[in-house]
Amino acid sequence: MQSFPAFFPLEGRRIAVIGEGPMADAKARLFAGSPAAVERFAQTPESLAGFSLVFVALADEAGRAGAVAVSKRDGVPVNVVDGPALSDFYTPAIVDRGELVIGVSTSGAAPTLARDLRARIEAIVPAAYAQVAAFARRIRARVLARRSNFEGRRRAWEAILRGAPGERALAGDLDAAEALAEHVLEGAAAAAGVVHLVGAGPGDPELLTLRALRVLQDADIVFHDKLVDPRVLDLIRRDAERVFVGKARGDHAVPQREIEARLIAEAQKGRRVVRLKGGDPFVFGRGGEELEALRAAGVEAHVVPGITAALGCAAEIGVPLTHRDHAQAVTFVTGHAKDGAPDLDWAALANAKQTVVVYMGVDTAAHTAANLIAAGRAASTPALVIENGTTPKVKRARGALCDLPALIAQAGILGPAILIIGEVAALADVAALALAEQAA
Ligand code: SAH
Repeated sequence: MQSFPAFFPLEGRRIAVIGEGPMADAKARLFAGSPAAVERFAQTPESLAGFSLVFVALADEAGRAGAVAVSKRDGVPVNVVDGPALSDFYTPAIVDRGELVIGVSTSGAAPTLARDLRARIEAIVPAAYAQVAAFARRIRARVLARRSNFEGRRRAWEAILRGAPGERALAGDLDAAEALAEHVLEGAAAAAGVVHLVGAGPGDPELLTLRALRVLQDADIVFHDKLVDPRVLDLIRRDAERVFVGKARGDHAVPQREIEARLIAEAQKGRRVVRLKGGDPFVFGRGGEELEALRAAGVEAHVVPGITAALGCAAEIGVPLTHRDHAQAVTFVTGHAKDGAPDLDWAALANAKQTVVVYMGVDTAAHTAANLIAAGRAASTPALVIENGTTPKVKRARGALCDLPALIAQAGILGPAILIIGEVAALADVAALALAEQAA
């Protein structure tokens, strides 16, 4: 460790910024919104006594040396812009979440590296963490009063901040968080866990939401499907337990009711449970049933949306699912029914100015095409089939609606795949299609 990260309280403190220009402005700006008072000087003043920190942004050597000398004489730590050798402390790249502050430093070696790292930390630490810190301050005295030893306090803090109270604080409801924390302190709800139903997106881990990433990194246990990409599974906290409850087509590895019962049981043990599902949990994902079961059991449950297959696959090849010239609506339907092919409202789906995306529709593509055409949709309507979109295994084929079953057979597509039917399918990036055909 080449430098030590200490944090100076700013309440009631005075900060001196010496110099003019953008560097000096930037140092002054660091304290905007903080309780410190910033005083600006064009040149070094006679005395710096009474200041807590001094920043020097002067260009000339003599000026810098003078400012350092006065700071040292008056016993105030000094930072010189672009002068690590003259400085008593370095200015870190800062992630500002109110009472929660993260500083990144390379000990003056490479500020750009520190800033890049900060950008990544900004992305994974939600702004709402400031509320969690504020909440912790609010209940701090009570936790100290009610838990006499160190170990008891640590356990109480973990139960509060990692459990339902912390989750409520993160959602901005500090009063509810406080009431739940009170339960924990009474020992009543010492084991209140939480379940997140999380959308893993269609494959590419970059399509995860920041919230999904955060809860994956906080999880104690993760229940995941077959559809979840292995690259997303790599982002789960390393120590978390992983449970595969895969449901391959026609092979119901773990029955739905049992999955629900296990989610509830784990949450009731006080664990942070993630139910990770491909795409979005509420789009053909049975997320609705799981949420109902969790609510009925009185378990704290949250839903983290994901990019659904239709959106991910369409974006990847430049197909706008709605487009002023071609489609006024997009409809997501399922091609799967309990006993074979679904009985959809074909007349409604045959409307020409509409894009239809069929999920789980590979096996029933012939039935879908025949019904749409019989209901009046043109046999020549452009149609796309996309298997494993946004993954390295992607396969795509395009043709006319009437040729859908043949296209699927030729490309050797077995699913998971979606069908995109409508004029917008003609707008697909031809290069992407050709490339995929070669690869396949
Ligand atoms: N909740 C998921 C859908 C689950 S149903 C979502 O929002 O995307 C499973 C179906 O989703 C698959 O049969 C297939 O039709 C579609 N699907 C999921 N991932 C896909 C992908 N990467 N490429 C193409 N289709 C996909």
